[in-house]
Amino acid sequence: MTTTSILSDRINNLSESATLKMTKLGRELAAKGINVISLSVGEPDFSTPEHVKNAAKQALDQNYTRYSPVPGYPDLRQAIVDKLKQENNLDYDISEIVVSTGAKQSLSNVLLTLINPGDEVIIPTPYWVSYSEMVTLAEGNSVFIHTTIDSDFKITPAQLEAAITPKSKVFMFSSPCNPTGSVYSKEELAGLVEVFEKHPDIYIISDEIYEHINFVGKHESIAQFNSIKDRVILVNGFSKAFAMTGWRLGYIATNRVIAAANEKIQGQTTSGTCSISQRAGIAAYKEGLESVLEMKNAFARRRQLVYELLNEIPGVKTNLPEGAFYFFPEISSFFGKKDPEGNVIENSADLALYLLNYGHVATVGGDSFGNDNYLRLSYAASDDNLREALRRIKEALAKLV
Ligand code: PMP
Ligand code: GLU
Repeated sequence: MTTTSILSDRINNLSESATLKMTKLGRELAAKGINVISLSVGEPDFSTPEHVKNAAKQALDQNYTRYSPVPGYPDLRQAIVDKLKQENNLDYDISEIVVSTGAKQSLSNVLLTLINPGDEVIIPTPYWVSYSEMVTLAEGNSVFIHTTIDSDFKITPAQLEAAITPKSKVFMFSSPCNPTGSVYSKEELAGLVEVFEKHPDIYIISDEIYEHINFVGKHESIAQFNSIKDRVILVNGFSKAFAMTGWRLGYIATNRVIAAANEKIQGQTTSGTCSISQRAGIAAYKEGLESVLEMKNAFARRRQLVYELLNEIPGVKTNLPEGAFYFFPEISSFFGKKDPEGNVIENSADLALYLLNYGHVATVGGDSFGNDNYLRLSYAASDDNLREALRRIKEALAKLV
């Protein structure tokens, strides 16, 4: 019996998450006593704010320990409705909110509820690793719109129009973007909306999980355009804004039909997410954004630091990302070069492995985000670690001949 013969085609055709794989490799090296700096996983290095942790402790004492309603506690969904009104000026009813086990599950649920085999999902590249694999799991086909650093990794309305076919069902993007940090302005979104207005059968998944980590202005959601709002599935969550990655709390806001379908799929797979996390989520949204602003200021400082250090490395080309906490520099000038043992660096995955094994810095190759000429660095690390990591990367790259 081969390992693959017992597994479904679905699993055999699925790639492992590259962000999680590189993080795992980094941890394995660290377990051998090697000092590895991780710039691979996209996870705030801060602790969850005290008031959020206290709400979770109280929730335990108050015995919030049973199954919750599948789409989430009504008062959490109301807090989400209030947040969307106050911060984003978006009107939703609690029947249009479904809370899930992280935005990751929200995205997966939405694709499973909308996609029939062979439907096309339009995804601008670079995109977050899991998008294309979730589409594959839903038996859809990803259609990529390619961008490069020269357009700050943003698509134009003409590119969108050209990607649309009679099979297009969903358009899926993140702004601020993982992995590029690019942020679409209101005007840029309006240009895309004009195209969607001409194609009323296309649904838009708007992943806004980095909304609070935006260095250029206020967050603009594509759901603000009333002509298409009913077709937008807004995805957001608590992981990035409140340093709550382990709590697994995300949600969608969308029309009632899609929300009810998401509740149905969740009711047959995972049920409502962790009761204690949900009570903590209410505290996070009710207490305001002070802690979020503190984190954002730290990220702004680190962004400048990494920008300056990356610019000092010969052969690396970068832009200044407008949001999130990633850089996505172009590194293809190193392809074809050899490491000190004579191994040729063929692609971004090779380069990421080289940097891990020789430089002891974990990064992620751009290929998993849809563009092999780049490397993703998360700067959700301390200033000292960032300085040391960039020093190691520079030194390791200089050894390639
Ligand atoms: N979308 C994007 C763009 C992300 O980077 C992440 C990070 N994990 C997620 C969704 C999922 O977030 P979570 O499941 O932790 O809420
Ligand atoms: N979204 C983060 C990242 O891109 C977390 C890891 C993951 O879930 O892929 O690194």
